Amino acid sequence: MSAPGGHGAAQWDDWRWQMTHRIATVEELGRYLRLGDAEREQIRAAGRHYRWSITPYYASLMDPDDPACPLRRQQVPAVQELDDEIGLPDPLYEQDNSPVDAVVHVYPDRVAFKVTNVCPTYCRYCFREYFVGNEDEHHTRRKIDEGLAYIAAHEAIRDVLVTGGDPFLFSDRRLEELLGRLRAIGHVEIIRFGTRTPCTLPQRITPELCRILARHHPIWLNTHFNHPRELTAEAARACGLLLAAGVPLGNQTVLLKGVNDDAQVMRALVHGLLRMRVRPYYIFHCQLLAGTAHLRTSIEKGLEVMQALRGHTTGFGVPNYVLDTPYGKVPLLPQYLLGRAGDEVLVRTWNGAVWREPNPRGNDPPAVPLPELPDHAYPDAATPRRPFPATRPAAAPVPAG
Ligand code: SF4
Repeated sequence: MSAPGGHGAAQWDDWRWQMTHRIATVEELGRYLRLGDAEREQIRAAGRHYRWSITPYYASLMDPDDPACPLRRQQVPAVQELDDEIGLPDPLYEQDNSPVDAVVHVYPDRVAFKVTNVCPTYCRYCFREYFVGNEDEHHTRRKIDEGLAYIAAHEAIRDVLVTGGDPFLFSDRRLEELLGRLRAIGHVEIIRFGTRTPCTLPQRITPELCRILARHHPIWLNTHFNHPRELTAEAARACGLLLAAGVPLGNQTVLLKGVNDDAQVMRALVHGLLRMRVRPYYIFHCQLLAGTAHLRTSIEKGLEVMQALRGHTTGFGVPNYVLDTPYGKVPLLPQYLLGRAGDEVLVRTWNGAVWREPNPRGNDPPAVPLPELPDHAYPDAATPRRPFPATRPAAAPVPAG
């Protein structure tokens, strides 16, 4: 593909070219989008509050004429960022959960290992804004050594999420070295990557990178697509290379107002991901991050989107909607389990029907008690049920002799 401005395909397809030509001024952005004078001023004002940068590839996917374009909303600074009364700079208190600079340790058996603060594009809703918004800095050898030493000293850590920023912005040589050192720690069973490069810099997924990953299995990878328009031929090629190298792919999406807080858009996204063999894994509720009031939805909106997915698409295409907290992720579910009525449990199915399922009370007090439903809540006559007690056909008589 040719870049706007007459750059050749060889340059466009080179991830290093994309990185060195990242767009970070209104003048450069004006080569991709039609910007009015007021919008230019607003981008300048908001961009001073939180650093911005966009790969030419990602900018080329934006609608040049639509300021509400869902891809623009994710990456182009908006003046509304300056108007957020309740947002916090580090809503997950990650800095308090970091025993050493590069490691976030919340769950006993796994850690996030932040090896760089550089990303191809700086998403306006990134909860690591406290970290990625600074000057580009791959972590120094000292900080990485410190992180590796922490992981090596904690035998309970069996799962390391290598993240950032974007760890795939390491050179191949540095990645190979990092993976080799992690693999040398006996108790590290799996290594996961969190990277948005398949979406914002698919050129980074090269055959050589995939060979490096394949040498250090088991490697898992979660990427980050938010809108069906990001599912391009280039993104599909990048995911195909990773899959061919044996790397299972999941996707995490952030629920964002005006981007994907809509059942049809979310369904198109998960269907497109499934066609690319990427499993939709998480929908994250947008964090209470400073400058994101215009992007945050209510949790009720997220439940509405989830309800429009469950039963309306392939079961494993339905991601987990979660709220991340400083203590870990909490699943958010529309209410399907209504409660107990005597020896039955009442559930609501995907299409709204209420079903009674026999579930006799046991002798032991249940570890997870269900809410008791009042008798009048769901009148028997209105709700279908499985016959209870269940009747079995009589056993066939055993032939004599
Ligand atoms: S790519 Fe990920 S880490 Fe980087 S700015 Fe976006 S959300 Fe944050």
